[in-house]
Amino acid sequence: EAKTSGRNAVRFFDPAMQAVLVVKMMLESNLRVALALEQFQLYYQIQVDADGKVVGAEALLRWIHPDRGFISPLEFIPLAEQTGLIVPIGTWVLETACMQLKKWSRDPKTAHLSLAVNVSAKQFQQSNFVETVTEIVRLNNIDPSRLKIELTESTILDNVDATTEKMQQLKKLGIAFSMDDFGTGYSSLAYLQKLPLNQLKIDQSFVRDLNDDESDATIVRAIISLGLNLGLDVIAEGVETVAQRRFLIEHNCLTFQGYLYSKPIPIEGLNALLTGDINEHSFFLTPSEADE
Ligand code: C2E
Ligand code: MG
Ligand code: MG
Ligand code: MG
Repeated sequence: EAKTSGRNAVRFFDPAMQAVLVVKMMLESNLRVALALEQFQLYYQIQVDADGKVVGAEALLRWIHPDRGFISPLEFIPLAEQTGLIVPIGTWVLETACMQLKKWSRDPKTAHLSLAVNVSAKQFQQSNFVETVTEIVRLNNIDPSRLKIELTESTILDNVDATTEKMQQLKKLGIAFSMDDFGTGYSSLAYLQKLPLNQLKIDQSFVRDLNDDESDATIVRAIISLGLNLGLDVIAEGVETVAQRRFLIEHNCLTFQGYLYSKPIPIEGLNALLTGDINEHSFFLTPSEADE
């Protein structure tokens, strides 16, 4: 941003613009120390099957800033991508997630769970990404098939041959892949068939108005049948209502993630939920969602 503003220097003197830039620069330098100071945390959001059984979780990064409090990944991930800091941050995410998988593997109540981790384009494109993942999986001695890497269409399509090659290497190791936010990008059907994917994740923007918007309903039905016909699992994200779940089940999408079940929560809450110490799921819902 600063570079493009330089060409049009007048914008530097717009106080509002300048304030935005200053905040951004502060965030960037804070981001550099956040890792060292252990200000990052993983939150976990459960993934549930049609019987209500927890089948896994998605790890979602949280930055707890000493002054600003919670900063959304939607705000700092793009900045981390631009600065390259996503690489060490992403490695920390993978390490933390695999350590968690290792802990789960020791308890029969949790050993079956999979854990999905978001990997961004810059991180996936590192020349040593396969080695990094291999090493983390090996060091933690986990079943690689419990780890699921979520990639977006744009990450994959950026350089489809190189990406497919890397995915194949990781797939050989046993690692699973989900295509996140599916339907929002520009995947060609020909690629979809060739990619070593395990799962399509229907983007929440199509799930939101599923029951009111006929074109969203049509898109969701099409994604489900596409995925199933290609032999993939299909999961819907952003499932907030019983009506959405009912529609999805009717159309054979049988795995769900969303506030209907739980928001992303810290590991303590998740473990309590998994081991049955808390069986009141609505504990994790906001009042309006619990009303449903
Ligand atoms: P995503 O991977 O598509 O994650 C789903 C987002 O939807 C999460 O937002 C989650 O909290 C939110 N969500 C889940 N259920 C519901 C629901 O029922 N209703 C609504 N309205 N939202 C729901 P979050 O945690 O803010 O993460 C945003 C994005 O940031 C993620 O989108 C992902 O692209 C990125 N992100 C998060 N953690 C990481 C990470 O460790 N590495 C990378 N590279 N990106 C990450
Ligand atoms: Mg995701
Ligand atoms: Mg998503
Ligand atoms: Mg999304």
